[in-house]
Amino acid sequence: MTSNDTLSPVRGKLLRNEPLAPYTWFRVGGAAEALFIPADAEDLADFLKALDPAVPVTVLGVGSNVIVRDGGVEGVVIRLAGRPWAQITTDGDTVTAGAGALDSMVAKASAKAGIAGLEFYAGIPGTIGGALTMNAGCYGSETKDVLVSAWGLTRAGERVDYDLADFGYTYRHSQAPADIIWIEATYRGTADEPEAVAARISEITSRRETTQPIREKTGGSTFKNPEGHSSWKLVDEAGWRGKLHAKTGGGAKFSELHSNFMINPGEATAADIESLGEAVRADVLAKTGVLLEWEIKRIGRAG
Ligand SMILES: Cc1cc2nc3c(=O)[nH]c(=O)nc-3n(C[C@H](O)[C@H](O)[C@H](O)COP(=O)(O)OP(=O)(O)OC[C@H]3O[C@@H](n4cnc5c(N)ncnc54)[C@H](O)[C@@H]3O)c2cc1C
Repeated sequence: MTSNDTLSPVRGKLLRNEPLAPYTWFRVGGAAEALFIPADAEDLADFLKALDPAVPVTVLGVGSNVIVRDGGVEGVVIRLAGRPWAQITTDGDTVTAGAGALDSMVAKASAKAGIAGLEFYAGIPGTIGGALTMNAGCYGSETKDVLVSAWGLTRAGERVDYDLADFGYTYRHSQAPADIIWIEATYRGTADEPEAVAARISEITSRRETTQPIREKTGGSTFKNPEGHSSWKLVDEAGWRGKLHAKTGGGAKFSELHSNFMINPGEATAADIESLGEAVRADVLAKTGVLLEWEIKRIGRAG
C-alpha cells in the first residue's frame, strides 16, 4: 500500500500512518500504514469488500498479548473500539458480547444477570475478539468451556458463522482461519446468585493484583506452557527472573513478580523485548531441551 492508495469512504475513523504503541500494553512498536476503526459491522464489511485483496489486514484488540514491531504494520490495522463494538446482552443463562467488549465487562454483566461460568474473564485484560482468537483462559477455565458460537467477517467482507466445534480449540490456539475478524460471540453459563458470582470475581481480581504485574507495560504470558512444564518455572530456573539481558537495551526483563511476563520499564523497543524473549528461548532450550513456544503474537516489520 502506498500513501497515495485510495481507501473507500467510511463512516468510522480512518487514520494514515498512525503510531500503534499507544494501543498496546507494551507501549512499543511502529505505525500502521492505515488504522481503521469501523462505525459498525456494515461499515467494516463495505470497507473490506472494496479493499484491494493484496492489502494486508491485521486486527488488534486492546493489544494485551502482542508486540508490534518497530517498523510498523503494513496495510490496514483494524480496531473494534467504541460503544457499538462493546455491547453486552444477557438472556436467561446466555450472554452475547461484541468483539470489542472487555472480557472483564462481560464477567461483570454475567454476574449482574446471575450467570455463573464466565468469572474467569475478570482476570483477563483483553477483548472478546482477542479471547476468541487466543482461547483465553485462567484458573482452570478457558473460552472453549463457555462459548456457544460466534460470527465474523472474512477478509473479503463476507459473514461467517462458527459454532464452538468449528474453532477446533486447543490450549491458547484456535484452528479458525487467522484472517476472520470476529464481530460477536455468544456464551452459555449456569444460573447462580448474582452475589455469589460477584464474590468469585472479586477473589479473581484480588488474586491477580498479588501475582501479576498488572500495572506494568507487559504482554501477559510470553510463552505457552509446554506439555508437562510451566513456562514461568523454566524461565525462573534458567535464571531470567528480573535479570537484564546484556545484549538488549531499554531494560527489558522478565518480571520479578511473574517470571513468564516480560516488562518494558519505559525505554525498551519492540526489538529489545523480542530479542530478550528469543535469548530466553535459546537458553532454556540449551539448559533443558525444552523449546518454548511464543504465546505473545508478534506483528509487523522489524525496525
Ligand atoms: C497483565 C496481563 C494478564 C494476562 N492474563 C492472561 C490470562 O490469565 N489468560 C490469558 O489467556 N491471557 C492473558 N493475558 C493475555 C491477553 O489478555 C489475552 O490473550 C487476550 O485474549 C488478548 O486480547 P486483546 O484484545 O488484548 O487482543 P490483542 O492482544 O490485541 O490481539 C491478540 C490476538 O487476537 C487477535 N484479535 C483481537 N481481536 C480480534 C478480532 N476481533 N477478530 C480476530 N482476531 C482478533 C489479534 O489479531 C491477535 O492475533 C494477559 C495479558 C496481560 C497484559
